[in-house]
Amino acid sequence: MLTGWSEMIENSMRILIAGAAGFLGSHLTDALIAEGHTVLGVDNLCTGSLENLKQLANEPRFEFRQQDICVPFDPGRLDYVFNFASPASPVDYTRLGVETLMVGSDGTRNMLEIARSSGARFLHASTSECYGDPLQHPQTEEYWGHVNPIGPRSVYDESKRFSEALVMAYHRYYGVNTRLVRIFNTYGPRLQKNDGRVISNFMIQALKGEDLTVYGEGAQTRSFCYVSDEIEGILRLSRSEEHLPVNIGNPVEWTILECAKAVIEVTQSSSKIAYQPLPQDDPTQRQPDISKAKKLLGWKPKVDLEEGLRLSLDYFRSTLVDRV
Ligand code: UDP
Repeated sequence: MLTGWSEMIENSMRILIAGAAGFLGSHLTDALIAEGHTVLGVDNLCTGSLENLKQLANEPRFEFRQQDICVPFDPGRLDYVFNFASPASPVDYTRLGVETLMVGSDGTRNMLEIARSSGARFLHASTSECYGDPLQHPQTEEYWGHVNPIGPRSVYDESKRFSEALVMAYHRYYGVNTRLVRIFNTYGPRLQKNDGRVISNFMIQALKGEDLTVYGEGAQTRSFCYVSDEIEGILRLSRSEEHLPVNIGNPVEWTILECAKAVIEVTQSSSKIAYQPLPQDDPTQRQPDISKAKKLLGWKPKVDLEEGLRLSLDYFRSTLVDRV
């Protein structure tokens, strides 16, 4: 088992982060820059935003390149590749269906080739969506999932499942030093305001005094991880030698209705609930079993939902002010 966090911080590395302008990619970039590494961030900006990287404008150890990872490119010598490039919210990946499938196939392959030719270590951002609408609850990493391969969510689910297969193949056949993190619902500052995700929708609706749009009866569950906890788990995994998938998420399970009530409470809003139809194939339950991460990485989340929502309030308030 790994011990102190500071003991795991290694000498300065040159790191490629694909999807650096996204929600998780930008927080990961900040964390690695803060540790003293040099980061080349690439993003085609199809869902990411340069606004998420503006704090690094004068940082000499950070370089940004607008680049679609489906197109091969030469990033120079690298020590580590983090592949976080993909549309990730149901609204975005439904709008960009084919692009989502291609970034998880051609894009992931290009990133793996870059790691292979540099001898760099590799970490791929996978997802709880690999479990689909799970029949096993909570979900352990051994569960193979229950996925509709042709439904509306299939462009994302199968893209991520194919990426996992590709990462394992590059590890087994070519000896690339890979890791797979299965990320569960994560929230916090920099979540896109219009991407339709539940926390961003509810926070913005509550702050505007509008009704909170609960889909179905709100009985479906999710487990929400605050972004700083998620990033710490990912960094710990990046320093481990575990090549099989590891769940990183907060295991406290909430119904969507409970989540709506928590948002109303934290924002002290007078908003009410408005029920809307449940989208097709919306998973009925989702909760990570994080025993493996606890044992292997000495990691568990620290921030509960109410605290995380409070920490996100200023950000969501700032999104209400129109930027010209
Ligand atoms: N949801 C909701 N109202 C919204 C947005 C989402 O009730 O305004 C529900 C959605 O149906 C799902 C859950 O919240 O059951 C989480 O949705 P999200 O899009 O955030 O991510 P998912 O976990 O489905 O990928």
